[in-house]
Amino acid sequence: MNPADQKKLLSDVDAFCEELRPIEELCYVEHRYNDLVIPLAGKYKLLAMPVPVELGGRGADTVTYARALARIGREGTGVRTFFSGHTSIGQYPILTWGSEEQKRRYLPPGARGEKIFAFGLTEPEAGSNPLEMQMTYERKSDHFLLNGVKYLISNAGIATTIVTFAKGPKDLISAFIVDTGAPGFAKEDLTAKMGMPTANTGMFELKDYKVPINNLLGEEGNGFRIAMGTLVSGRLSVAAGCLGVIEDCLAEVVTYSKERQQHGKPIGKHQLVQEHIAAIEMDRFTTEAVVFRAAEAKDVSQREPANTVLKAQAELLAAQAKLFASNAAWDAADRAVQIFGGRGWSTLYRPGRHLQDVRVCRIYEGTDEILKLKVAAAVLGKEFEAYK
Ligand SMILES: Cc1cc2nc3c(=O)[nH]c(=O)nc-3n(C[C@H](O)[C@H](O)[C@H](O)COP(=O)(O)OP(=O)(O)OC[C@H]3O[C@@H](n4cnc5c(N)ncnc54)[C@H](O)[C@@H]3O)c2cc1C
Repeated sequence: MNPADQKKLLSDVDAFCEELRPIEELCYVEHRYNDLVIPLAGKYKLLAMPVPVELGGRGADTVTYARALARIGREGTGVRTFFSGHTSIGQYPILTWGSEEQKRRYLPPGARGEKIFAFGLTEPEAGSNPLEMQMTYERKSDHFLLNGVKYLISNAGIATTIVTFAKGPKDLISAFIVDTGAPGFAKEDLTAKMGMPTANTGMFELKDYKVPINNLLGEEGNGFRIAMGTLVSGRLSVAAGCLGVIEDCLAEVVTYSKERQQHGKPIGKHQLVQEHIAAIEMDRFTTEAVVFRAAEAKDVSQREPANTVLKAQAELLAAQAKLFASNAAWDAADRAVQIFGGRGWSTLYRPGRHLQDVRVCRIYEGTDEILKLKVAAAVLGKEFEAYK
């Protein structure tokens, strides 16, 4: 992406975030879905940032998109999760594995906000191990017939289009593009959540749901590869969003610790408060380094798609960045809550909201444990993989 386009995109992201903040704060306090995120993102043309310009997007490279998501992450993990669901794991597999016809049919309307995307892999009985999925497909004359339930899906309740995965003959996993308006599709929002009240999380069921043959994504049997490849983009988006959470926590504690007076001086002059501030700054500094190292590796790998070594490096770095950033953001939010004292515990203040919301980043797109196993196997060698 050329520097002028990058500058314009990031200034649009900034303007979007500034306009969104008061609306998001109100929705958060009222515990309701923020239905202005999509129209506002549409206004600033942010609904397809890494999608090529000819398909309606902004043509952002991975590093630029990571900067944008870090900025959005400051507004909250819920807002950033919408973008991850819609773009990083929703549009991304269509852009990467879709046919030219599928790209033309889905991506320009997605950029205009006429189509909203989600990625449906997790099921009630298949989370960390998606190979245990129970959603099935059968090939009929001019369509595939899908049956099953996907659960804990970001944007499921608002999506028009979901990239989903099902098992067919000989346990082959295939990927499908599902239009949510068709008969046989039912959805339900999840409301009893620990955080992200302004974002949509839901489940959906497919009952004898007919997917037209031309909505098979990639080749039949290639679904698991598509799902795992998509998670590289998803993990980077989580890591970048967590950087934004840390940046916002730092900004909040700097202001608060200079204003709040106790024991006759600003609390920022107490050394134990400074210890928290130093730790949050170290969270920010180290997370920024790992996020952009991983984003650069993905850009390098995308320039040489046939190079499997670069691809494996990018995949590992995305997992490492996500594991590190989500724990650093959790630490930063926890320390920011501590610095705010009793106010920190209230969700009327930003640290408390970040703490609640960012917890999920250690769970979705690969739990801490699954990512640690991946990192350990990369160090020890394939024969030490904890599971197949
Ligand atoms: C808010 C939210 C949004 C989400 N959005 C999406 C989405 O958009 N699309 C989507 O497909 N999914 C989504 N998910 C699902 C998420 O990816 C899963 O929750 C996650 O992969 C973990 O699966 P699980 O919840 O079934 O936990 P489980 O797999 O049951 O794991 C439970 C615990 O056991 C541990 N564990 C499991 N296997 C092992 C092992 N081999 N070794 C060591 N420990 C292990 C796990 O690390 C975890 O601590 C979302 C989840 C949440 C909460």
